[in-house]
Amino acid sequence: MSLLAVQGLTKFFGGVVAARDVFFTIERGEMVALIGPNGAGKSTVFNMIGGQLRTDSGNVLLDGEAITHASPQERFRRGIGRTFQVAQAFLSMTVVENVQMALISHHGESESLWSPARQRHRDRALALLAQVDMAEAADRLCAELAYGDVKRVELAIALAGNPKLLLMDEPTAGMAPRERAALMALTDSIAQARNIGVLFTEHDMDVVFGHAARVLVLLRGEIIAVGTPDEIRRDRRVREAYLGDMHVLQAPLARPA
Ligand code: ADP
Ligand code: MG
Repeated sequence: MSLLAVQGLTKFFGGVVAARDVFFTIERGEMVALIGPNGAGKSTVFNMIGGQLRTDSGNVLLDGEAITHASPQERFRRGIGRTFQVAQAFLSMTVVENVQMALISHHGESESLWSPARQRHRDRALALLAQVDMAEAADRLCAELAYGDVKRVELAIALAGNPKLLLMDEPTAGMAPRERAALMALTDSIAQARNIGVLFTEHDMDVVFGHAARVLVLLRGEIIAVGTPDEIRRDRRVREAYLGDMHVLQAPLARPA
């Protein structure tokens, strides 16, 4: 049984179809990229899986159970995590405090770090930070961090919920190319180690083709191709869909295999 099964998801905004009859599955430990031009419907699909957006029709199954009408909180409790930008209010806290807050929230405890709660989950938070190579920055203020480091803290915060499935809608937005590749490589290794399924979208095709086991291509709300990175690179419809943006696919193609 698949970790996630998306079955015929459809969403209209007025007369515009943002997603139409979208089907796919994600297995445990599998990194899947959802790609497509701007406005293709990627965020719409993410939000219907995360529960932020109601579906017009279709179903979402997690471990075989329908969660189509569950709230985002219920989906989070069942193991769907997503990366969110560190909220402005949290920039005034230290790196480890941000992760402690996420652990406190995950355990349904009251959200206070006043003493004696200061030490609560600190060891677990430090272990999560070590996984994203941020243990040394634990006691620095989030506000002082470089952008790429904030993104790694966001990943640690998402992992604090102990997800089975991680949704990452443009996790590397605003990052330099080298940082993008590093963040996705880190995500990839953590997902493998913890057997987490990951659905992500990313504009850098080198990163997509380097880290996705499978790629789904969305165009005007419809999945037009599914395959391994090699299959997608060679797919005629995909190349046509990206004609306006041909460099996107040419760059990786130009390299020797
Ligand atoms: P992507 O993430 O691939 O760029 P989106 O899912 O954000 O695409 O958008 C898909 C389509 O749905 C676009 O035409 C967009 O304008 C439209 N859309 C998305 N969200 C809304 C909304 N809340 N209200 C109206 N139209 C929306
Ligand atoms: Mg989007």
